[in-house]
Amino acid sequence: PNDLKAQQKALDLVLQDFDVSAERMGAIVDQFNSEMRKGLAAPKATVAMIPSFVTGKPTGEETGRYLALDLGGTNLRVCEFSLLGQGEYKVHQQKYVISDELKTGDMRNLCDFIADCVDNFVTENGSDSLESNLQLGFTFSFPVLQTEINRGTLIQWTKGFNCTNAVGKDVVVLLQDAFLRKNVNVHIAALVNDTVGTLMAHAYKYPETSMGVILGTGTNAAYYEKLNSIKKWEGGAVAFDDMVVNMEWGAFDNERRVLPLTIYDNKLDRESINPRQQIFEKMISGMYLGEIARNALLQLVDRLLLFKGVSSPELNKQWCFETAYMSAISSDTSEDLEETQHILEAVMQIPSTSLMDREMVKQVCIAVGRRAARLSACGIAAVISQQGSIGQDTLVAIDGSVYEFYPNFENDMTQGLTDLFGEKDGSCVRFALARDGSGLGAAIIAMMSHKAA
Ligand code: ADP
Repeated sequence: PNDLKAQQKALDLVLQDFDVSAERMGAIVDQFNSEMRKGLAAPKATVAMIPSFVTGKPTGEETGRYLALDLGGTNLRVCEFSLLGQGEYKVHQQKYVISDELKTGDMRNLCDFIADCVDNFVTENGSDSLESNLQLGFTFSFPVLQTEINRGTLIQWTKGFNCTNAVGKDVVVLLQDAFLRKNVNVHIAALVNDTVGTLMAHAYKYPETSMGVILGTGTNAAYYEKLNSIKKWEGGAVAFDDMVVNMEWGAFDNERRVLPLTIYDNKLDRESINPRQQIFEKMISGMYLGEIARNALLQLVDRLLLFKGVSSPELNKQWCFETAYMSAISSDTSEDLEETQHILEAVMQIPSTSLMDREMVKQVCIAVGRRAARLSACGIAAVISQQGSIGQDTLVAIDGSVYEFYPNFENDMTQGLTDLFGEKDGSCVRFALARDGSGLGAAIIAMMSHKAA
Protein backbone atom coordinates (compact mmCIF):
# COMPACT_ATOMS: atom_id res chain seq x y z
CA PRO A 1 0.00 0.00 0.00
CA ASN A 2 2.92 2.35 0.64
CA ASP A 3 4.10 1.62 -2.87
CA LEU A 4 0.68 2.41 -4.24
CA LYS A 5 0.60 5.71 -2.39
CA ALA A 6 4.02 6.69 -3.70
CA GLN A 7 2.96 5.76 -7.21
CA GLN A 8 -0.24 7.75 -6.92
CA LYS A 9 1.62 10.77 -5.62
CA ALA A 10 4.19 10.69 -8.43
CA LEU A 11 1.43 10.23 -11.00
CA ASP A 12 -0.48 13.22 -9.67
CA LEU A 13 2.59 15.39 -10.10
CA VAL A 14 3.12 14.25 -13.69
CA LEU A 15 -0.53 14.87 -14.49
CA GLN A 16 -0.21 18.35 -12.99
CA ASP A 17 2.72 19.05 -15.32
CA PHE A 18 0.47 18.37 -18.30
CA ASP A 19 -2.42 20.44 -17.01
CA VAL A 20 -3.12 23.70 -18.84
CA SER A 21 -5.23 26.03 -16.70
CA ALA A 22 -7.83 28.34 -18.19
CA GLU A 23 -5.67 31.23 -17.07
CA ARG A 24 -2.60 29.92 -18.90
CA MET A 25 -4.72 29.32 -21.99
CA GLY A 26 -5.74 32.97 -21.92
CA ALA A 27 -2.10 34.04 -21.85
CA ILE A 28 -1.30 31.69 -24.74
CA VAL A 29 -4.11 33.14 -26.86
CA ASP A 30 -2.90 36.70 -26.16
CA GLN A 31 0.64 35.79 -27.18
CA PHE A 32 -0.68 34.01 -30.28
CA ASN A 33 -2.57 37.14 -31.32
CA SER A 34 0.49 39.26 -30.87
CA GLU A 35 2.66 36.86 -32.93
CA MET A 36 -0.01 36.74 -35.64
CA ARG A 37 0.01 40.52 -35.92
CA LYS A 38 3.81 40.48 -36.23
CA GLY A 39 3.60 37.86 -38.98
CA LEU A 40 0.97 39.86 -40.86
CA ALA A 41 3.09 43.02 -40.61
CA ALA A 42 6.47 41.82 -41.82
CA PRO A 43 8.28 38.84 -43.35
CA LYS A 44 10.43 36.40 -41.33
CA ALA A 45 8.26 36.39 -38.21
CA THR A 46 8.11 33.28 -35.98
CA VAL A 47 4.53 32.61 -37.09
CA ALA A 48 5.10 33.23 -40.80
CA MET A 49 1.49 34.11 -41.81
CA ILE A 50 2.03 33.44 -45.53
CA PRO A 51 -0.54 34.96 -47.94
CA SER A 52 -1.81 32.09 -50.10
CA PHE A 53 -3.03 34.19 -53.06
CA VAL A 54 -6.36 32.38 -52.67
CA THR A 55 -9.14 34.96 -52.51
CA GLY A 56 -12.90 34.58 -52.56
CA LYS A 57 -14.94 31.56 -51.55
CA PRO A 58 -16.03 28.73 -53.78
CA THR A 59 -19.77 28.93 -54.48
CA GLY A 60 -20.19 25.17 -54.64
CA GLU A 61 -21.43 25.55 -58.21
CA GLU A 62 -18.00 25.20 -59.81
CA THR A 63 -17.84 22.38 -62.37
CA GLY A 64 -15.23 20.74 -64.57
CA ARG A 65 -12.41 18.20 -64.47
CA TYR A 66 -9.23 19.12 -62.64
CA LEU A 67 -6.13 17.25 -61.54
CA ALA A 68 -4.62 17.37 -58.07
CA LEU A 69 -1.18 16.26 -56.98
CA ASP A 70 -0.28 15.78 -53.32
CA LEU A 71 3.35 15.66 -52.18
CA GLY A 72 4.29 15.77 -48.53
CA GLY A 73 3.64 12.37 -46.94
CA THR A 74 4.85 8.85 -47.54
CA ASN A 75 3.03 8.58 -50.85
CA LEU A 76 2.57 10.75 -53.87
CA ARG A 77 -1.12 11.02 -54.72
CA VAL A 78 -2.46 11.92 -58.16
CA CYS A 79 -6.20 12.55 -58.43
CA GLU A 80 -8.70 13.65 -61.02
CA PHE A 81 -11.70 15.45 -59.59
CA SER A 82 -14.91 15.91 -61.53
CA LEU A 83 -16.57 18.87 -59.85
CA LEU A 84 -20.31 18.38 -60.32
CA GLY A 85 -21.67 21.52 -58.67
CA GLN A 86 -23.79 21.83 -55.50
CA GLY A 87 -20.71 20.82 -53.53
CA GLU A 88 -20.68 17.35 -55.15
CA TYR A 89 -17.75 15.69 -56.90
CA LYS A 90 -16.32 12.40 -58.13
CA VAL A 91 -12.70 11.41 -57.76
CA HIS A 92 -10.26 8.90 -59.26
CA GLN A 93 -6.96 8.56 -57.53
CA GLN A 94 -3.72 6.66 -57.63
CA LYS A 95 -0.94 6.47 -55.05
CA TYR A 96 2.73 6.15 -55.92
CA VAL A 97 5.47 5.24 -53.43
CA ILE A 98 8.38 7.65 -53.20
CA SER A 99 11.62 5.89 -52.39
CA ASP A 100 14.03 7.28 -49.81
CA GLU A 101 16.53 7.64 -52.63
CA LEU A 102 14.18 10.04 -54.43
CA LYS A 103 13.41 11.92 -51.20
CA THR A 104 17.05 12.74 -50.62
CA GLY A 105 18.46 12.82 -54.17
CA ASP A 106 18.55 15.57 -56.77
CA MET A 107 15.28 17.51 -57.08
CA ARG A 108 15.40 16.98 -60.84
CA ASN A 109 15.04 13.23 -60.37
CA LEU A 110 12.08 13.69 -58.03
CA CYS A 111 10.39 16.01 -60.53
CA ASP A 112 11.01 13.58 -63.40
CA PHE A 113 9.50 10.81 -61.28
CA ILE A 114 6.43 12.92 -60.49
CA ALA A 115 6.04 13.78 -64.20
CA ASP A 116 6.14 10.05 -65.05
CA CYS A 117 3.48 9.35 -62.42
CA VAL A 118 1.21 12.10 -63.75
CA ASP A 119 1.77 10.84 -67.31
CA ASN A 120 0.92 7.29 -66.25
CA PHE A 121 -2.20 8.52 -64.41
CA VAL A 122 -3.66 10.64 -67.22
CA THR A 123 -3.01 7.91 -69.78
CA GLU A 124 -4.60 5.16 -67.72
CA ASN A 125 -7.44 7.37 -66.55
CA GLY A 126 -8.22 8.72 -70.04
CA SER A 127 -7.89 12.31 -68.77
CA ASP A 128 -5.61 13.09 -71.70
CA SER A 129 -8.49 12.67 -74.15
CA LEU A 130 -9.78 16.06 -72.99
CA GLU A 131 -9.16 18.65 -75.67
CA SER A 132 -7.66 21.47 -73.70
CA ASN A 133 -4.57 21.61 -71.60
CA LEU A 134 -5.24 19.87 -68.26
CA GLN A 135 -5.14 22.13 -65.20
CA LEU A 136 -3.54 20.87 -62.02
CA GLY A 137 -3.52 21.97 -58.36
CA PHE A 138 -0.27 21.05 -56.63
CA THR A 139 -0.50 20.44 -52.87
CA PHE A 140 3.02 20.83 -51.56
CA SER A 141 3.05 20.62 -47.77
CA PHE A 142 6.38 22.15 -46.93
CA PRO A 143 7.15 25.74 -45.91
CA VAL A 144 6.99 27.79 -49.10
CA LEU A 145 7.17 31.50 -49.65
CA GLN A 146 4.29 31.92 -52.07
CA THR A 147 4.85 34.63 -54.69
CA GLU A 148 1.84 34.01 -56.96
CA ILE A 149 -1.06 31.58 -56.99
CA ASN A 150 1.19 29.16 -58.91
CA ARG A 151 4.65 30.29 -57.84
CA GLY A 152 6.55 29.72 -54.60
CA THR A 153 10.08 29.17 -53.32
CA LEU A 154 10.90 26.36 -50.94
CA ILE A 155 12.12 27.70 -47.58
CA GLN A 156 13.18 24.37 -46.09
CA TRP A 157 12.45 20.65 -46.31
CA THR A 158 10.78 18.79 -43.43
CA LYS A 159 9.31 15.33 -42.74
CA GLY A 160 12.23 13.28 -44.06
CA PHE A 161 12.58 15.00 -47.45
CA ASN A 162 15.96 16.52 -48.27
CA CYS A 163 16.42 16.84 -52.04
CA THR A 164 19.36 18.82 -53.30
CA ASN A 165 18.91 21.81 -55.64
CA ALA A 166 15.47 22.72 -54.33
CA VAL A 167 15.69 25.08 -51.34
CA GLY A 168 15.39 28.69 -52.51
CA LYS A 169 13.98 27.60 -55.89
CA ASP A 170 10.49 27.85 -57.31
CA VAL A 171 9.01 24.37 -56.97
CA VAL A 172 6.33 25.00 -59.59
CA VAL A 173 8.90 26.00 -62.21
CA LEU A 174 10.97 22.89 -61.39
CA LEU A 175 7.98 20.58 -61.80
CA GLN A 176 6.54 22.37 -64.85
CA ASP A 177 9.96 22.02 -66.53
CA ALA A 178 9.85 18.28 -65.89
CA PHE A 179 6.37 18.12 -67.50
CA LEU A 180 7.85 19.89 -70.53
CA ARG A 181 10.86 17.56 -70.71
CA LYS A 182 8.53 14.57 -70.63
CA ASN A 183 5.87 16.00 -72.94
CA VAL A 184 3.22 15.86 -70.25
CA ASN A 185 0.52 18.26 -71.37
CA VAL A 186 -0.48 19.53 -67.93
CA HIS A 187 -0.43 23.08 -66.59
CA ILE A 188 0.20 23.74 -62.89
CA ALA A 189 -2.48 26.32 -62.14
CA ALA A 190 -2.07 26.51 -58.36
CA LEU A 191 0.43 25.77 -55.62
CA VAL A 192 -1.46 24.89 -52.45
CA ASN A 193 -0.59 24.26 -48.81
CA ASP A 194 -2.58 21.36 -47.32
CA THR A 195 -4.26 23.62 -44.74
CA VAL A 196 -5.48 25.94 -47.49
CA GLY A 197 -6.70 22.93 -49.50
CA THR A 198 -8.57 21.54 -46.49
CA LEU A 199 -10.27 24.90 -45.91
CA MET A 200 -11.33 25.30 -49.56
CA ALA A 201 -12.53 21.70 -49.90
CA HIS A 202 -14.87 22.12 -46.96
CA ALA A 203 -15.98 25.56 -48.08
CA TYR A 204 -17.06 24.00 -51.43
CA LYS A 205 -19.94 22.30 -49.63
CA TYR A 206 -20.19 24.51 -46.51
CA PRO A 207 -19.38 28.11 -47.53
CA GLU A 208 -19.45 29.30 -43.92
CA THR A 209 -16.18 27.38 -43.26
CA SER A 210 -13.64 29.97 -42.15
CA MET A 211 -10.65 27.93 -41.08
CA GLY A 212 -8.73 24.78 -42.06
CA VAL A 213 -6.58 22.90 -39.53
CA ILE A 214 -4.20 19.93 -39.87
CA LEU A 215 -3.70 17.71 -36.81
CA GLY A 216 -1.67 14.82 -38.26
CA THR A 217 2.05 14.14 -38.50
CA GLY A 218 2.47 17.88 -38.04
CA THR A 219 0.07 20.71 -37.27
CA ASN A 220 -0.77 23.93 -39.09
CA ALA A 221 -3.75 26.13 -39.95
CA ALA A 222 -5.13 28.53 -42.56
CA TYR A 223 -7.97 31.05 -42.34
CA TYR A 224 -9.58 33.99 -44.15
CA GLU A 225 -7.94 37.29 -43.26
CA LYS A 226 -8.91 40.80 -44.34
CA LEU A 227 -6.49 41.98 -47.00
CA ASN A 228 -6.04 45.34 -45.29
CA SER A 229 -4.89 43.53 -42.13
CA ILE A 230 -2.11 41.84 -44.12
CA LYS A 231 0.17 44.87 -43.80
CA LYS A 232 3.09 43.16 -45.53
CA TRP A 233 1.02 42.44 -48.68
CA GLU A 234 2.74 43.85 -51.75
CA GLY A 235 0.85 41.93 -54.40
CA GLY A 236 -1.37 44.79 -55.46
CA ALA A 237 -5.14 44.94 -55.74
CA VAL A 238 -7.21 41.76 -55.78
CA ALA A 239 -10.87 41.26 -56.55
CA PHE A 240 -11.90 40.30 -52.99
CA ASP A 241 -11.47 41.82 -49.53
CA ASP A 242 -10.28 38.58 -47.93
CA MET A 243 -7.35 36.28 -48.57
CA VAL A 244 -6.54 32.88 -47.09
CA VAL A 245 -3.39 33.02 -44.94
CA ASN A 246 -1.27 29.92 -44.30
CA MET A 247 -0.19 30.53 -40.71
CA GLU A 248 2.64 27.96 -40.33
CA TRP A 249 1.55 27.93 -36.69
CA GLY A 250 3.73 24.96 -35.73
CA ALA A 251 6.53 27.47 -35.06
CA PHE A 252 4.47 29.43 -32.51
CA ASP A 253 6.45 30.32 -29.38
CA ASN A 254 9.80 29.01 -30.57
CA GLU A 255 11.08 31.62 -28.09
CA ARG A 256 9.40 29.58 -25.31
CA ARG A 257 7.72 32.54 -23.66
CA VAL A 258 4.30 31.17 -22.82
CA LEU A 259 3.81 27.49 -23.67
CA PRO A 260 3.76 25.25 -20.56
CA LEU A 261 6.81 23.17 -21.52
CA THR A 262 7.75 20.29 -19.23
CA ILE A 263 11.08 18.51 -18.88
CA TYR A 264 9.57 15.82 -21.13
CA ASP A 265 9.04 18.38 -23.90
CA ASN A 266 12.47 19.91 -23.44
CA LYS A 267 14.12 16.51 -23.69
CA LEU A 268 12.20 15.70 -26.87
CA ASP A 269 13.19 19.02 -28.39
CA ARG A 270 16.85 18.72 -27.43
CA GLU A 271 17.06 15.25 -29.02
CA SER A 272 15.10 16.18 -32.17
CA ILE A 273 16.67 16.97 -35.57
CA ASN A 274 15.27 20.52 -35.37
CA PRO A 275 15.87 21.77 -31.81
CA ARG A 276 14.18 25.07 -30.84
CA GLN A 277 12.00 24.90 -33.95
CA GLN A 278 8.32 23.94 -34.30
CA ILE A 279 7.79 24.11 -30.52
CA PHE A 280 3.97 24.34 -30.72
CA GLU A 281 3.88 21.45 -33.22
CA LYS A 282 6.01 19.33 -30.90
CA MET A 283 3.40 19.59 -28.12
CA ILE A 284 0.46 18.76 -30.37
CA SER A 285 1.05 16.59 -33.39
CA GLY A 286 1.13 12.85 -34.02
CA MET A 287 4.83 12.69 -34.74
CA TYR A 288 5.61 13.79 -31.14
CA LEU A 289 2.88 12.84 -28.63
CA GLY A 290 4.16 9.28 -28.21
CA GLU A 291 7.65 10.53 -27.48
CA ILE A 292 6.43 12.98 -24.82
CA ALA A 293 4.51 10.19 -23.10
CA ARG A 294 7.52 7.87 -23.38
CA ASN A 295 9.72 10.45 -21.66
CA ALA A 296 7.20 10.85 -18.83
CA LEU A 297 6.86 7.08 -18.35
CA LEU A 298 10.63 6.54 -18.30
CA GLN A 299 11.02 9.19 -15.63
CA LEU A 300 8.59 7.20 -13.45
CA VAL A 301 10.51 4.01 -14.25
CA ASP A 302 13.79 5.64 -13.24
CA ARG A 303 12.28 6.59 -9.90
CA LEU A 304 11.27 2.93 -9.50
CA LEU A 305 7.62 3.95 -9.40
CA LEU A 306 6.52 2.20 -12.60
CA PHE A 307 7.01 -1.42 -13.80
CA LYS A 308 9.03 -1.98 -10.61
CA GLY A 309 11.76 0.09 -12.21
CA VAL A 310 12.22 -2.27 -15.19
CA SER A 311 12.00 -0.95 -18.76
CA SER A 312 12.72 -2.70 -22.09
CA PRO A 313 14.94 -2.04 -25.12
CA GLU A 314 11.76 -1.17 -27.03
CA LEU A 315 10.56 1.43 -24.54
CA ASN A 316 14.09 2.78 -24.21
CA LYS A 317 14.27 3.53 -27.92
CA GLN A 318 13.58 7.08 -29.12
CA TRP A 319 10.29 7.50 -31.10
CA CYS A 320 9.27 3.86 -30.48
CA PHE A 321 6.18 4.56 -28.39
CA GLU A 322 3.69 5.49 -31.12
CA THR A 323 0.89 8.01 -30.81
CA ALA A 324 -1.51 5.36 -32.11
CA TYR A 325 -0.69 3.22 -29.02
CA MET A 326 -1.71 6.15 -26.85
CA SER A 327 -5.07 6.31 -28.63
CA ALA A 328 -5.66 2.62 -27.95
CA ILE A 329 -4.56 2.90 -24.31
CA SER A 330 -6.60 6.05 -23.65
CA SER A 331 -9.75 4.31 -24.86
CA ASP A 332 -9.16 1.05 -22.96
CA THR A 333 -12.16 0.68 -20.63
CA SER A 334 -11.76 -3.01 -19.79
CA GLU A 335 -11.57 -3.83 -16.10
CA ASP A 336 -8.05 -5.27 -16.30
CA LEU A 337 -6.89 -2.81 -18.94
CA GLU A 338 -6.17 -5.71 -21.29
CA GLU A 339 -5.41 -3.68 -24.38
CA THR A 340 -2.98 -1.58 -22.36
CA GLN A 341 -1.39 -4.76 -21.04
CA HIS A 342 -1.05 -6.08 -24.58
CA ILE A 343 0.67 -2.94 -25.82
CA LEU A 344 2.99 -2.72 -22.83
CA GLU A 345 3.88 -6.40 -22.51
CA ALA A 346 3.54 -7.83 -26.04
CA VAL A 347 4.45 -4.79 -28.14
CA MET A 348 6.79 -2.83 -25.88
CA GLN A 349 8.12 -6.01 -24.22
CA ILE A 350 7.88 -4.79 -20.62
CA PRO A 351 8.41 -8.01 -18.59
CA SER A 352 5.43 -7.49 -16.29
CA THR A 353 2.90 -4.80 -15.38
CA SER A 354 0.55 -4.42 -12.43
CA LEU A 355 -2.95 -3.02 -12.78
CA MET A 356 -1.72 0.16 -11.08
CA ASP A 357 1.12 0.43 -13.63
CA ARG A 358 -1.37 0.17 -16.47
CA GLU A 359 -3.70 2.69 -14.87
CA MET A 360 -0.79 5.12 -14.54
CA VAL A 361 0.20 4.69 -18.21
CA LYS A 362 -3.40 5.28 -19.23
CA GLN A 363 -3.67 8.46 -17.16
CA VAL A 364 -0.42 9.82 -18.64
CA CYS A 365 -1.64 9.12 -22.20
CA ILE A 366 -4.96 10.84 -21.52
CA ALA A 367 -3.20 13.86 -20.03
CA VAL A 368 -0.77 14.27 -22.94
CA GLY A 369 -3.65 14.02 -25.44
CA ARG A 370 -5.83 16.44 -23.49
CA ARG A 371 -3.02 18.99 -23.31
CA ALA A 372 -2.58 18.73 -27.12
CA ALA A 373 -6.30 19.32 -27.61
CA ARG A 374 -6.35 22.34 -25.26
CA LEU A 375 -3.33 23.88 -26.97
CA SER A 376 -4.96 23.32 -30.39
CA ALA A 377 -8.00 25.12 -28.97
CA CYS A 378 -5.74 28.07 -28.08
CA GLY A 379 -4.62 28.39 -31.72
CA ILE A 380 -8.19 28.17 -32.96
CA ALA A 381 -9.33 30.69 -30.34
CA ALA A 382 -6.60 33.11 -31.44
CA VAL A 383 -7.86 32.95 -35.02
CA ILE A 384 -11.45 33.47 -33.90
CA SER A 385 -10.45 36.55 -31.87
CA GLN A 386 -8.44 37.88 -34.80
CA GLN A 387 -11.48 37.42 -37.06
CA GLY A 388 -13.57 39.19 -34.42
CA SER A 389 -16.42 36.76 -34.87
CA ILE A 390 -16.95 35.37 -31.37
CA GLY A 391 -20.60 34.78 -30.75
CA GLN A 392 -21.37 33.84 -34.30
CA ASP A 393 -21.34 30.31 -35.62
CA THR A 394 -17.83 29.33 -36.61
CA LEU A 395 -17.08 26.25 -38.69
CA VAL A 396 -13.56 24.78 -38.58
CA ALA A 397 -12.54 22.05 -41.07
CA ILE A 398 -9.96 19.65 -39.63
CA ASP A 399 -7.93 16.82 -41.18
CA GLY A 400 -5.45 14.44 -39.59
CA SER A 401 -5.25 11.21 -37.63
CA VAL A 402 -4.78 12.88 -34.25
CA TYR A 403 -8.11 14.70 -34.55
CA GLU A 404 -9.81 11.73 -36.21
CA PHE A 405 -8.65 8.96 -33.90
CA TYR A 406 -7.41 10.31 -30.56
CA PRO A 407 -10.16 9.57 -28.02
CA ASN A 408 -11.93 12.66 -26.71
CA PHE A 409 -9.78 15.06 -28.72
CA GLU A 410 -12.75 16.98 -30.06
CA ASN A 411 -14.46 17.14 -26.64
CA ASP A 412 -11.27 18.39 -25.04
CA MET A 413 -10.94 21.09 -27.72
CA THR A 414 -14.53 22.20 -27.11
CA GLN A 415 -13.93 22.22 -23.35
CA GLY A 416 -10.84 24.37 -23.96
CA LEU A 417 -12.83 26.88 -26.03
CA THR A 418 -15.52 26.94 -23.37
CA ASP A 419 -12.88 27.65 -20.71
CA LEU A 420 -11.70 30.57 -22.83
CA PHE A 421 -14.92 32.04 -24.19
CA GLY A 422 -17.55 30.83 -21.72
CA GLU A 423 -20.22 28.18 -22.24
CA LYS A 424 -22.34 30.08 -24.76
CA ASP A 425 -19.68 31.41 -27.14
CA GLY A 426 -17.40 28.39 -26.74
CA SER A 427 -20.06 26.02 -27.95
CA CYS A 428 -20.76 28.14 -31.07
CA VAL A 429 -17.56 26.78 -32.60
CA ARG A 430 -18.20 23.68 -34.69
CA PHE A 431 -15.55 21.23 -35.91
CA ALA A 432 -15.89 19.05 -38.98
CA LEU A 433 -13.67 16.22 -40.19
CA ALA A 434 -12.47 16.98 -43.72
CA ARG A 435 -10.68 13.74 -44.51
CA ASP A 436 -8.19 14.03 -47.39
CA GLY A 437 -9.66 17.43 -48.19
CA SER A 438 -6.43 18.92 -49.44
CA GLY A 439 -6.61 17.17 -52.85
CA LEU A 440 -10.16 18.36 -53.53
CA GLY A 441 -9.18 21.81 -52.30
CA ALA A 442 -6.22 21.91 -54.69
CA ALA A 443 -8.49 20.99 -57.62
CA ILE A 444 -10.97 23.73 -56.64
CA ILE A 445 -8.20 26.31 -56.32
CA ALA A 446 -6.79 25.26 -59.71
CA MET A 447 -10.24 25.80 -61.16
CA MET A 448 -10.72 29.20 -59.52
CA SER A 449 -7.29 30.33 -60.65
CA HIS A 450 -7.79 29.05 -64.20
CA LYS A 451 -11.18 30.77 -64.49
CA ALA A 452 -9.74 34.01 -63.16
CA ALA A 453 -6.79 33.97 -65.57
P1 ADP B 1 -0.33 13.08 -42.52
O1 ADP B 1 -0.43 14.17 -41.53
O2 ADP B 1 1.08 12.58 -42.68
O3 ADP B 1 -0.97 13.40 -43.84
P2 ADP B 1 -2.10 11.52 -40.79
O4 ADP B 1 -3.14 12.55 -40.65
O5 ADP B 1 -2.56 10.11 -40.92
O6 ADP B 1 -1.15 11.80 -42.01
O7 ADP B 1 -1.14 11.64 -39.52
C1 ADP B 1 -0.16 10.70 -39.27
C2 ADP B 1 0.21 10.85 -37.79
O8 ADP B 1 -0.88 10.43 -37.00
C3 ADP B 1 1.41 10.01 -37.37
O9 ADP B 1 2.32 10.86 -36.70
C4 ADP B 1 0.85 8.99 -36.39
O10 ADP B 1 1.66 8.89 -35.24
C5 ADP B 1 -0.47 9.57 -35.97
N1 ADP B 1 -1.49 8.53 -35.81
C6 ADP B 1 -1.71 7.44 -36.58
N2 ADP B 1 -2.73 6.70 -36.10
C7 ADP B 1 -3.17 7.34 -34.98
C8 ADP B 1 -4.19 7.08 -34.03
N3 ADP B 1 -4.98 5.99 -34.11
N4 ADP B 1 -4.35 7.96 -33.03
C9 ADP B 1 -3.58 9.05 -32.94
N5 ADP B 1 -2.58 9.35 -33.79
C10 ADP B 1 -2.38 8.51 -34.80
